[in-house]
Amino acid sequence: MHIVAKQLMKTFGTFQATKQVSFEIEKGRLIGLLGPSGGGKTTILRMLAGLEQPDSGEIWFHGKKVNDLPPQERGIGFVFQNYALFRHMSVYDNIAFGLTVQKRGKQEIKARVTELIELTGLKGLEKRLPHQLSGGQRQRVAFARAIAPEPQLLLLDEPFAAIDAKVRKELRTWLKDMINRVGITTIFVTHDQEEAVEVADQIMIIHQGTLEQQGAPIDIYQRPQTPFVAGFIGESNSLEHITRFKGFEQAELREAKAIIRPEFVEVGYASEISFPSASEPGTVKNVYFRGTNWQIEVELAGQTIFAYRSLEQEALKPGDRVQVLIHRVYLFNEQEHRTVE
Ligand code: ATP
Repeated sequence: MHIVAKQLMKTFGTFQATKQVSFEIEKGRLIGLLGPSGGGKTTILRMLAGLEQPDSGEIWFHGKKVNDLPPQERGIGFVFQNYALFRHMSVYDNIAFGLTVQKRGKQEIKARVTELIELTGLKGLEKRLPHQLSGGQRQRVAFARAIAPEPQLLLLDEPFAAIDAKVRKELRTWLKDMINRVGITTIFVTHDQEEAVEVADQIMIIHQGTLEQQGAPIDIYQRPQTPFVAGFIGESNSLEHITRFKGFEQAELREAKAIIRPEFVEVGYASEISFPSASEPGTVKNVYFRGTNWQIEVELAGQTIFAYRSLEQEALKPGDRVQVLIHRVYLFNEQEHRTVE
């Protein structure tokens, strides 16, 4: 389903849960709504579902304004973290529920439920009750139940939050694969950046009721448009007075904040060939082993900066005099953002 949201605003009492949020989602996309707790993600989902009315703004599905359509007429399926299955109904009956409500024929219901049981890997568990299933199996039943009536949009609110880490990782891959197969436009809420980056083909970063950025995970990571996004996604250093550093003398942006990812910082001994003149002297403060590389904390012109160093290179030690080479900086001020390399 093609979705357009125009300037959605929602206030609870005096608190603005969303402030003029606008976005467009193409049909078939798998979107991750990502951001810290309380930012407004669930409120956006509930407005799309029709469970919450925006104070102002418009929602369009397939070129049709749906603000006045009740939830059951919006063609939506849901899976919520605590949206429990019907406790006294079998797996089969849970999945069949929406189809029964729609008064579909008995044969049709049987065919569709059987197909979904296959698709979601629940064969053999049809007669079980929810309490006889694992958390992961329950979420798969919830997913099958949500897509059974062939919704045009699937909304998932923290669908894996209550599941332990290992199963959660499996379910993510499973979900991505499943959604690709069934081809439903899907929006899921998460506050876990790893989950969003791994599952979604597009991410929307929501912070304090505002949509900070929308794009493919790689674009969000490589081209953050706000300081919040730069700090929230991936690791980052914050540096003042970037123009004092060699190669960045021209990086003028009035009262700018500079954010640098550790992977864009090289650190090593002056004798190492990769250090041309455009590097700054610094002192190693700490060295941390990260499994795949070293994280080096360096003191540089009175500031602290983190860099990575490969395990194949000579190990650095606290107190070592080193050279630091910065490859890419994100600059932000109130009006603008710029990437300097
Ligand atoms: P979380 O990850 O914790 O679910 P979220 O980003 O989904 O957070 P929302 O649930 O949309 O955030 O909530 C945004 C803000 O609106 C929160 O401060 C919340 O307390 C407030 N809020 C949400 N629903 C209501 C309500 N019905 N009445 C009053 N305040 C509400």
